[in-house]
Formats: sequence, C-alpha cells, structure tokens
Amino acid sequence: MYDFQYHRPGSVADAAAALSGAAEGIYLAGGQTLIPTLKQRLGSPSDLVDLGRIADLKGITAGGGGVTIGAMTTHAEVAASADVQGAIPALAALAGDIGDPQVRNAGTLGGSLATNDPAADYPAAALALGATIKTNSREIAADDFFTGMFETALNDGEIITAVSFPAPQSAAYMKFKNPASRYAIVGVFVAKTADGVRVAVTGATHVAHRGPRLEAALNANFSADAVDGVELPVESMNSDIHASAEYRAHLVKVMAKRAIAAC
Ligand SMILES: Cc1cc2nc3c(=O)[nH]c(=O)nc-3n(C[C@H](O)[C@H](O)[C@H](O)COP(=O)(O)OP(=O)(O)OC[C@H]3O[C@@H](n4cnc5c(N)ncnc54)[C@H](O)[C@@H]3O)c2cc1C
Repeated sequence: MYDFQYHRPGSVADAAAALSGAAEGIYLAGGQTLIPTLKQRLGSPSDLVDLGRIADLKGITAGGGGVTIGAMTTHAEVAASADVQGAIPALAALAGDIGDPQVRNAGTLGGSLATNDPAADYPAAALALGATIKTNSREIAADDFFTGMFETALNDGEIITAVSFPAPQSAAYMKFKNPASRYAIVGVFVAKTADGVRVAVTGATHVAHRGPRLEAALNANFSADAVDGVELPVESMNSDIHASAEYRAHLVKVMAKRAIAAC
C-alpha cells in the first residue's frame, strides 16, 4: 500500500469538498474492494475520503411503495431489515447471500453499485426492480447507471447517497455462486411489477443487464416453461475458468426458471 492522506468528514458536502481538494482522491466505504486493491498496489490515490462517519448516508426508510436505503448501509443491515423483508423480501435475501459475514458486515450498497463488478448481486436487483440511484447532485435510473464493466454513470467526485427500490408485486433472485467468493457466476433477478415483468442478469456478461428476450417471453406467459423457447446471445456471454459461455447461457435459463418458480 502506498501512502495517502486520510479524511473522515461528517457530511456529504464536506466529503465532496475533501475529494475535490485532493490531487487524486477516492471515497472509502466498506473497503471490501478498495482496500485489497490498495494493498496490492493496484491504485495509488493521494487521499482517501472515508464516508463511514456520515450519518445521512445510513439507514433504511419504508414508504412511497418501496424502500429507500442509504448508500452506507451494509449488506447485513439490508438483510436484517424488517422494512426490506416486508416490502421486498427478495432484496433482503439477496443481501443476506452476498459474500461471507465479514463482507456483509463491512460492504455497503453504495460501494457495490459504484464498483459495478460484473458478477455483483445488487446491480441485478437495481435493474429488475427499476431502482433510482440518488447522488449528491441528481437522481439516476438504474437503467442508465451501469454503463460498462466496472463503469457507471457517476461523474468524478459524485457520491451515491441512497437508492430507492419500488416494491414489486412479487420478485425473486437466484444465483449460481462461485463457491469461494459467492459472487454470481450467473444471477437472475425476476420482478413482477404493475408495468410488467422485469428481468436482470448478472455474472453472465461484462456488465449486469436487463434480459429483453426473457421479459418478452414472460410478459406473454409468466411460467418457467416460457423460458425454454428463448434464444440467448451466447456470443456475448463471459467465458473463463469458472464457466464457458455456453454453460453461462444454460445457467441464465435455469436461474430464471427457479426465480419464476419462487415468484
Ligand atoms: C471476499 C469477497 C466476497 C464478495 N462476495 C460478493 C458477492 O457474493 N456478491 C456481491 O455482490 N458482492 C460481493 N463482494 C463485494 C462486496 O459486497 C462489496 O459490495 C464491494 O466490495 C464494495 O463495497 P464497499 O462498501 O466495500 O466499497 P469500497 O471497497 O469501500 O469502495 C469501492 C468503490 O466504490 C466507491 N464508492 C463507495 N461508496 C461510494 C458512494 N457512496 N458513492 C460513490 N462512490 C462510492 C469507492 O470510491 C471505490 O471506488 C465480495 C467482496 C469480497 C471481498
């Protein structure tokens, strides 16, 4: 790890000011991705701006037909929240199945979305539920947020403050886990909403995405059988030591069927 200046601001405005005053600053949330990166000397920020003491970034509120979760809320807090369990049980279950206890107790919703790991779970939930990502300067629809592998619509210095998840009529998330990290080799989130079925897939390609072919099939016939006839673009699937593109395409259908059954 290289040397850096450490800041622990008490407000979002002070955090943004600390970052803009730094030569090459970066926000620190749960540190589950950032700290290993720094330890391996894959990054050399001049300043770390720790968001951990900003009370406004924490907590969960129910209302308006869904839940709003502060960016610094940990996965364990989301999993244990009676409000999330009541409004969107699939989201609470997703959070409770991320990584291991240390990761769940330190890792945050905002950190996960800002990282946008192609195998992360929350991006699938945000896309399928039609979430809105709130920052210190604007609101971004989930459909516009995940722009590429480890890339998002966030501008330099922009802070995710909270995420609003509308409650669906029913929803379920199923993932085929990497047994070591528990990241999704493939994860599929299916949500039945008043505006139709929304499906999002993570782990299968370079970035989490909606599944328009699955959505079309399920809007016509919301049953596991409807998935059988869907042709998936195998050529766009990841192929690595964990799973071939063909196997991932197969897993998308299997996870989708399990999620539909769970809905
Ligand atoms: C062993 C292990 C297993 C894991 N398994 C899973 C898994 O099964 N599923 C899964 O989805 N994830 C998994 N993760 C990822 C983990 O859940 C965290 O969400 C992730 O590491 C980042 O969150 P963090 O709060 O630790 O962010 P940090 O590591 O502190 O920050 C990550 C990045 O996000 C930026 N950032 C953080 N918060 C904000 C904010 N509010 N606004 C703007 N930018 C921000 C930081 O500047 C940094 O660039 C795993 C991680 C580990 C180490």
